[in-house]
Amino acid sequence: MKKFLILFLFFYFSLSISAKEVPLKIHFLDVGEGDSILVEAPTGETLLIDTGNFISGFKVSQYLKEKNIQRLEHLIFTHPHLDHIGGAFLMVQEFSVKDIYDNGENLPKQDIYRWYEQLVRQRAGYRVLSGGDELSVGEFELEILWPARPFVFSDFNVNSLVIMIKYNDFRCLLMADATDQIEKTLLKTGRDFKAEVLKVGHHGAGDASGIEFLQAVSPKIAVISVDRDNIRGYPSAETLERLKKSGSKILRTDQSGTILLTVDRKGKLTLKEER
Ligand SMILES: [Zn+2]
Repeated sequence: MKKFLILFLFFYFSLSISAKEVPLKIHFLDVGEGDSILVEAPTGETLLIDTGNFISGFKVSQYLKEKNIQRLEHLIFTHPHLDHIGGAFLMVQEFSVKDIYDNGENLPKQDIYRWYEQLVRQRAGYRVLSGGDELSVGEFELEILWPARPFVFSDFNVNSLVIMIKYNDFRCLLMADATDQIEKTLLKTGRDFKAEVLKVGHHGAGDASGIEFLQAVSPKIAVISVDRDNIRGYPSAETLERLKKSGSKILRTDQSGTILLTVDRKGKLTLKEER
């Protein structure tokens, strides 16, 4: 009888575990001035896109540790501005990172970039990403939409990696610090940019999120990664107005803290704001 009960409990628990679906999780981390986005595949693989700045890189590291993440399958730097790569110096040394990518931007001759080159680009598993590349992470895919190769612009922001996350029918478009120059160039390709979630380009600055592009993406949720009371005055009032007109719900890391978005297999979204 005892044996039977143990066997029954074993089957009961294994059934209840397998019945519980693990969703795709996208964490838009509150890193103050900068970007950092953690994506956890339902199968457990982890991807980190950007690492915040020199101050908030520590917060990214703490956040991952709290989530019991010790290993990153993929680490992507969208472009080498310090509000995106600042945490790299900590993250790369503290975590086991398998594959590491950036946009291959020409780096200025400064010590900080010499160290970045040494730590990131000279690693085994380093690869340059360009428009047209695709990566498979667990059950979801990443499609790189930008930049074109060779670079057609010489501005760091304009050469940002633009990434579409694809999970079944769900789409999330991550614009990094892309401006309307990229948006216009992308629109000319005539492809489908529709996405339920948009990580707004360039921290909500006025030089990104043009009306035509927003119409093409038509996001239900627009996430702005921005510092509170920042010196640049982001997000711009005009951009907020355009986003409102597009009908999307606007979420900002300066107001919500870290924003966690979960997506189940059928595309059902749930949102959790830190504050
Ligand atoms: Zn930035």
